[in-house]
Amino acid sequence: MLRFAAAVYQGTCYSFAMSTSDHTKRILILGGGTAGWMAANLMIKAWGGRGFEITLVESPDIGIIGVGEGSTPMLKTFMSSIGLEERDWMPACNATYKLGIRFDNWSTMPGFPRYFHPFPAQLDDLTSPPFFENSMARRNGLDVEGHPDHFFLNTYMAQQKLSPFAGENFPFTTLYGYHFDSGLLGEFLGDLARKRGVKHLQAKITDATQDDSGNVTALIDDGGRTLEADYFIDCTGFRSKLLQETLGVPFLPFADNLFNDAAVVFATPRPVEVAPQTVSTALKNGWAWTIPLTSRIGNGYVYSSAYTSADAAERELRAFAGIGDDVHVDARHLNMKVGRVAEHWKGNVLAVGLSQGFIEPLEATALLLVQLTIQGFIKALDQGNFGDSRRDVFNDDISARFDAVRDYIVAHYVVNSRTDSNYWQDNANNNKVSQSLFDVISTWTSGKDLTEELKRQNIEHFYPTMSWHCLLAGYGIYPAKAGLQTRDAELHQGKLAEIHEFIRRCSLNYAPHMEVLKAQADGMAA
Ligand SMILES: Cc1cc2nc3c(=O)[nH]c(=O)nc-3n(C[C@H](O)[C@H](O)[C@H](O)COP(=O)(O)OP(=O)(O)OC[C@H]3O[C@@H](n4cnc5c(N)ncnc54)[C@H](O)[C@@H]3O)c2cc1C
Repeated sequence: MLRFAAAVYQGTCYSFAMSTSDHTKRILILGGGTAGWMAANLMIKAWGGRGFEITLVESPDIGIIGVGEGSTPMLKTFMSSIGLEERDWMPACNATYKLGIRFDNWSTMPGFPRYFHPFPAQLDDLTSPPFFENSMARRNGLDVEGHPDHFFLNTYMAQQKLSPFAGENFPFTTLYGYHFDSGLLGEFLGDLARKRGVKHLQAKITDATQDDSGNVTALIDDGGRTLEADYFIDCTGFRSKLLQETLGVPFLPFADNLFNDAAVVFATPRPVEVAPQTVSTALKNGWAWTIPLTSRIGNGYVYSSAYTSADAAERELRAFAGIGDDVHVDARHLNMKVGRVAEHWKGNVLAVGLSQGFIEPLEATALLLVQLTIQGFIKALDQGNFGDSRRDVFNDDISARFDAVRDYIVAHYVVNSRTDSNYWQDNANNNKVSQSLFDVISTWTSGKDLTEELKRQNIEHFYPTMSWHCLLAGYGIYPAKAGLQTRDAELHQGKLAEIHEFIRRCSLNYAPHMEVLKAQADGMAA
């Protein structure tokens, strides 16, 4: 690649559009992390052969952040939209399936030491109404089962280590995400994009030139060479070289609400069998993820540097993962810049990935926001919508998504009931939450209809009512058990038993997780 880069850098000014006509649009993606390569793939798929030239420039000296191993179900639509089947990419990225996230030790409420946030399944249509009814009844003082784990197929399937795949005679869909090695995913997407025609250059960009209107006209690398383009996609990670540094777009931190600003990460060996779930365990000053890949377990502790040091955090994560202080692990310490930019798209620059913002990875939403940002931009460009008003609509939409994810994450912290550290107590006492989140929690605690409240706020398309119910019920945010009234206990028990049996019988149709992964790996070897 270095030789290729050297070959194309023969003059002092290299224009990407070697066969540029008036109609050729030159897109320059700056940054070759997951965001950059996702952008490259979506853009070449959408625009390849249609008069666009797409070039990705990255600096191996700077490198990528190299974390980010969990996804939402949207990654499946990303892969499909660039024409990939799971067998094409999953074995190459040591990927496993993910039916949801288990939250351990976030609540001290009796009976609620953990809960599962499942991705939706079609059969939830049958089991979520009784859950919503029960949680409403319990919030209003009736002693009925209100723990979400009793009501969802994906929760049970994750416990049983089942895959999301049923035989043909059971045609009900279930949504799922993935776990993957982020370094391998980046390499995979890079190879694919190059094969499909994306140009790839290695250069460290030090400067940018702008025209009178403020649009970026070219990037300048540390050798003084100039790289011109029409549109620039800033995928430079937390640096945000173009959007924040060059165009000066303000960054709006979420630190008032999200205290975590650092992480320590290392891998441990994988057990024989892994469940299709991320486990997120609350520790003393943050939380730890446990993410199963086919090759290893990814461990990370996301914490607040205002409450603990990097050394203490690493020791705590080691103890949690069962790794003695004398055992060598390649621990990486990272700082996190949490918040979002005021505008994601300004002039002819679009920021994607960490350069546009980041919310701690509790619900693994970063790549979802990457995907939605790129797809929205492609759509706008295809429609020729480059006016200020279109950009405003785009920016408002992406910002609303960031804020909605932030609020859902913040909810985990403000409803926690731990008292074992200042960190957890300060989180529980945080009174700077948004009005939207305040109204959601008040609706819940006052026993009113949460689904109606989400609709009233028009936020149910960000996190659905099922997710909010699982979170608030999963933490045991209910009146004290001693004060609850017992009525029709046998009837409720009977209904619950029926739901359990229904879920159990449905689950018999699904193949074991490890069997599906093995078949994929064998397919690759064949
Ligand atoms: C602790 C942690 C855990 C995370 N977990 C998850 C998760 O579970 N799920 C999820 O979806 N996301 C997660 N994320 C987010 C995820 O890691 C990122 O969204 C993703 O990796 C995309 O990063 P990026 O491409 O924006 O930036 P980076 O990976 O940092 O890439 C930046 C690129 O820009 C290039 N560059 C920068 N400056 C220059 C320059 N001047 N000249 C040339 N090139 C330059 C670099 O060389 C690099 O190629 C996590 C993040 C952190 C910090």
